[in-house]
Amino acid sequence: MRHGAPPRNAGSLRLLAVALCLSVTALADPRRPSTSLRAGRRAVGGALAPSASQGFPNHGSLVHGRRLEEGPTVRYLPGRTLHWGTEELVGLLERAARTLHQRYRVRLTVGDLSARNGGPVARHRSHQSGRDADLAFFARDRRGQPVTPQDYAVFTATGRTADGRLEFDTARNWAMVEALLSDRQVRPERIFVSGALRGRLLAYGRAHASRGSLVTLASSVLAQPARVSPHDNHFHVRIPCPSGDAACRWGVQLPRRLLHPRRLLRPAHRHPRRR
Ligand SMILES: [Zn+2]
Repeated sequence: MRHGAPPRNAGSLRLLAVALCLSVTALADPRRPSTSLRAGRRAVGGALAPSASQGFPNHGSLVHGRRLEEGPTVRYLPGRTLHWGTEELVGLLERAARTLHQRYRVRLTVGDLSARNGGPVARHRSHQSGRDADLAFFARDRRGQPVTPQDYAVFTATGRTADGRLEFDTARNWAMVEALLSDRQVRPERIFVSGALRGRLLAYGRAHASRGSLVTLASSVLAQPARVSPHDNHFHVRIPCPSGDAACRWGVQLPRRLLHPRRLLRPAHRHPRRR
């Protein structure tokens, strides 16, 4: 709420009291159903309440999230219904999609983000706190024509699907990485992708990127996460905790068995290191 000139009469005072009361009620119950101007975000004192990521990506929630809308630059992957994220995540995807559309006249195919209020969802261990998004790879068919993905396609180390039907479009997928990493407002913390596709993207970047620093940045952000199956059918983008989101937590919450003190004392070499 903005604090401006004092109210001139009793009517204004009453209005101010009502507005204050509504604001306090709204703040006291952030997960109350929305009555916002824009779906999912509530007007507080005349302004949209800021989104907030709470907890960990794999044990958290989302408050006042924003929905990523389909449009000329964004399309939903069929069957995926989780399209909510923090303002920062949704803004990042919108800007990257706009950049790709301007360059290639394509739409960014988006899978799951988070549920409206975050929390556990099917298919994912993370995606709980509005900071994760899955993006389909760009691909080409046997004739080299761009295809519109109807589902995620798995690309092997050869850069093709196992049946040879589709080819990983390295140029456009690198452009997607470039658009995400060149954003001036939000820098992705991680873009998860399989080791083989990461190598393919970085090689392309080294040969074609206008800025060497972007390839260096990409080599630190692109990663295959440990202890999960390879990310060989989509990019998984995670943004850092937005500044001001005091209840947001870095990293992931480890299972309780891993936090047990006796477990921590065991020699580490008993478990082969995995990348
Ligand atoms: Zn994901």
